[in-house]
Amino acid sequence: MVRGSFTGTIRTMPELLEVEAYRQLLLPTIGARILRVEADNLVCGGLPGRCPAEGQHIVGLRRKGKLLLIDLADLVVGLHARMTGSVLLDGTSAFDKLRYAPKVSNESFIRLRVHLDDGSVIALHDPRRLARVILDPDEDRLGPDATTATAAIVERALAIGTQSEVALKTRLLDQSRLSGLGNLLVDEICFQARLDPARAAARLLRVEIEALAEQIGITLQELGARGGSDRGTLQDARHRGGCCPNCGALLTRSTIGGRTTYACRVEQQ
Ligand SMILES: [Zn+2]
Repeated sequence: MVRGSFTGTIRTMPELLEVEAYRQLLLPTIGARILRVEADNLVCGGLPGRCPAEGQHIVGLRRKGKLLLIDLADLVVGLHARMTGSVLLDGTSAFDKLRYAPKVSNESFIRLRVHLDDGSVIALHDPRRLARVILDPDEDRLGPDATTATAAIVERALAIGTQSEVALKTRLLDQSRLSGLGNLLVDEICFQARLDPARAAARLLRVEIEALAEQIGITLQELGARGGSDRGTLQDARHRGGCCPNCGALLTRSTIGGRTTYACRVEQQ
């Protein structure tokens, strides 16, 4: 492959697992120096004139929730992929070798190019132009990363002990309470934990909180190993008329937290 060329394929809706794949894709760039940045004004609105990242070395790559963090010598570049953003290195996406790759990438959708002194190019591909690149992002606005979810962390995320009627799914999607989970991961976690996503989160029982925390870890590990957020057991049934892969009951389809939600009314209580 020619460096800087563009042949990758893109999947949509990045969640924690996809952003972690972007981070791992970029690991070889640690130690390289940024020569030049080409940035889309909307996506990189925070970058004035000459980009302050130019001339700096990449010293680390981190992730918190769905936020990718590129540590430079005296600056942090945060990248929110949002709905359709995807990170590429030398034209290769993190998903090229995976089972599903429905979106053919397009050169005109590149919103950011970072040219490095070793000749490689980091690019941000985003058809809908909703991704955002932010300098020195406020990482504290994000709750604990979902990979670290313990029963105590889940208890705080769900506002246990309050009178809140907010739904379980809404709380799990709230990035300020627990970061990294999106629509597919939350539905899969609730399905595997046999919890109704519409239930009032604050009224979960202690044993359910513990099971949920454990299930978050298990689902992230399993779907990470399978290749992404769309590898869940529920995935193939996520359509009108879809049936539960366990018991065969018709799945309910509703909107919770603004997102289309599938659940088994027989097994999820
Ligand atoms: Zn079922």
